[in-house]
Amino acid sequence: MNLSFVYQGSPAHIVFGEGSSRHVGEWVEKLGASRALVLTTPHQKAEGEAMATALGGLAVGTYDNATMHTPVDVTEAAVARVLDLKADVVVALGGGSTTGLGKAIAYRTDLPQIVVPTTYAGSEVTPILGQTEGGEKTTLRSPKVLPEVVIYDPGLTLGLPVAMSVTSGLNAIAHAAEALYAPDGNPITALMAAEGMRAIRQALPVITASARDRQARTDALYGAWLCGSVLGQVAMSLHHKICHTLGGSFDTPHAETHAIMLPHTIGFNAGAAGKELQPVSDIFGGTPGQALYDFARSVGSPMALKDFGLKEIDLDRAAEIATRNPYANPRPIDRASIRALLQDAWEGSRPPL
Ligand code: NAD
Repeated sequence: MNLSFVYQGSPAHIVFGEGSSRHVGEWVEKLGASRALVLTTPHQKAEGEAMATALGGLAVGTYDNATMHTPVDVTEAAVARVLDLKADVVVALGGGSTTGLGKAIAYRTDLPQIVVPTTYAGSEVTPILGQTEGGEKTTLRSPKVLPEVVIYDPGLTLGLPVAMSVTSGLNAIAHAAEALYAPDGNPITALMAAEGMRAIRQALPVITASARDRQARTDALYGAWLCGSVLGQVAMSLHHKICHTLGGSFDTPHAETHAIMLPHTIGFNAGAAGKELQPVSDIFGGTPGQALYDFARSVGSPMALKDFGLKEIDLDRAAEIATRNPYANPRPIDRASIRALLQDAWEGSRPPL
């Protein structure tokens, strides 16, 4: 076999285990810091305050206005608070929105970040930052935004609502599925992607039946780490491009959009990347798109874009935006076939492959 690849491991520290969030203070000190600003969304304000209290003299305050899609005005207000409080590290406690705020602060100030993830989005292990300003979402890649320390504590995910657990878990599977056929993929990312999918495949049905099952929460968070890691390491294709278009231009919700699009985009690519997508068939059973569709339905995922404010009339423009710039994808992309794929996802019908 002619094997040839480039692999670069992440320099981040990954700390995993139930109760590990009790050690945030030790990691603040290991980073040489002593003035942590704890970030959360308004919804997780109480958890952020509890984290600051637990940090005692190592915390200088909280900022609880993290917002989906990292609006620049929110970041600027947070940076002003960082400067005012002379913070020397940010601790982001929450999902991708809070992680995004921490990254945006780090991008502007070079402060180190500790992330304590409470969803399965995976942003905490990527050097990618998406930001919005004036209704436009732009994405950048920079080593400056990769968090230095990630502390995965499954205990903090026990209260993640089932519906969010399902869509967030499918969001993670989407990273792994596209990593399998990434043009810059390698044997390590393929192993991580398959293992991440397997862990989430095992966890979600248990979580839907018993949301506080500790083993399933551990499996799901472990899978989220692996799936997020491959998102950070290799290029994404059609699936992420379409979700970015739908979220950025039509304001569809992040995790739900990924969950709905996943069977359709992977089904679209299945004929051209059958060998690469074999782990999807092995883990979910069936042809990749249909197997993912049946799995998503079985765990109660939303299935149709029409349920999320997107109008049928928007699909033409979405197909146009998603095919405007070329990018690597196993199957060649043209506007008509992307428009047809979007129609299926809008209606929620089972993909043909
Ligand atoms: P989110 O962070 O917006 O969280 C949604 C809501 O759930 C928030 O109110 C949050 O406070 C709440 N929440 C989070 N964890 C909870 C828990 N355990 N219990 C109860 N409530 C909880 O959602 P998300 O899907 O994690 O993140 C989406 C954002 O992340 C988007 O802006 C997306 O673009 C970004 N993202 C970025 C990357 C990247 O690599 N840059 C990767 C994935 C996602």
